[in-house]
Amino acid sequence: MSDALAIGVDVGATKIASALVARDGSVLAARQTETRVRDGGDALFARIAAQVNALASQANAPLAGVGVGAPGWVNPAQGVVLNAVNMNWENVALAQAIQTRLAVATSVYVQNDVKAAALGEWLFGAARGARDFFLLTIGSGLGSAAMANGALLDGAQFLASELGHLAIDPHGRLCNCGHSGCAETVLSGRGLIAETRAALARGIASQLRDAAALTTHEIIAAALQDDAAACAALQVMGEWLGIVIASGVAWLNPARVILGGGLGIAAYDVLMPIAQPEVMRRVLPGSDRDLMYARVQVTSSAVGAAALAFLAE
Ligand SMILES: [Zn+2]
Repeated sequence: MSDALAIGVDVGATKIASALVARDGSVLAARQTETRVRDGGDALFARIAAQVNALASQANAPLAGVGVGAPGWVNPAQGVVLNAVNMNWENVALAQAIQTRLAVATSVYVQNDVKAAALGEWLFGAARGARDFFLLTIGSGLGSAAMANGALLDGAQFLASELGHLAIDPHGRLCNCGHSGCAETVLSGRGLIAETRAALARGIASQLRDAAALTTHEIIAAALQDDAAACAALQVMGEWLGIVIASGVAWLNPARVILGGGLGIAAYDVLMPIAQPEVMRRVLPGSDRDLMYARVQVTSSAVGAAALAFLAE
């Protein structure tokens, strides 16, 4: 194992987080700034490079490289973001745009942010030692990434493991992608709010009266106090989570299933006791033997991105 360091950068629609990371995943220095998509690409690339340059100047060991996690559709082989709606990006050569602005000579690796997070869990977190696992991130949408036989699944067009758009209910709610009943319409903040509104509309007793201004934070807090409407909504969500996990188990026979994302982490203790029996009920006998469930351990997305550079060494 080399003693090299890596810099990880997570580019999100609202903030850019970066970190100087050691080979064991520990953070030696970290920076954060607003993304400000409206300022345009050049300003954004300059801000990313400035963060990387500042962190590189703090490094007291050789750099293995810079790993960048970006939202949307990414070609990691070319370091190009093919499409990222929230960033207004189409065919952006992100690796090159950053690299040309760096003060140090080092390689830049770009990957989809959820896939980068999965590699981070594999190197530093809940997937250590597993050759077969998948990660689900429940937040504003449903992200997923999978590893099989010790290799990340990229796909022919780098769109493998998009479980958020697994069609689970032909009569379900409309998804952002334009189709109905994608897993993301249920397993997301939007999905939880919609289920809670439906429970309130059915007249289920609840402390959550102002249905117009519901937040996922309030719903989870209410569920932890046994609020009937919040519990009903999370029950539906947990059952669907079990169905999606069972589908992933049927497809990949993973050793581990890892749950993350803001909502996935916050609601883990409510969702998993509902989802796990649903998985057991549905999967082929034997495929759940020694199957382990875990919450993500790498909570810094910048650390996950740094894994890209260490793995490219
Ligand atoms: Zn969809």
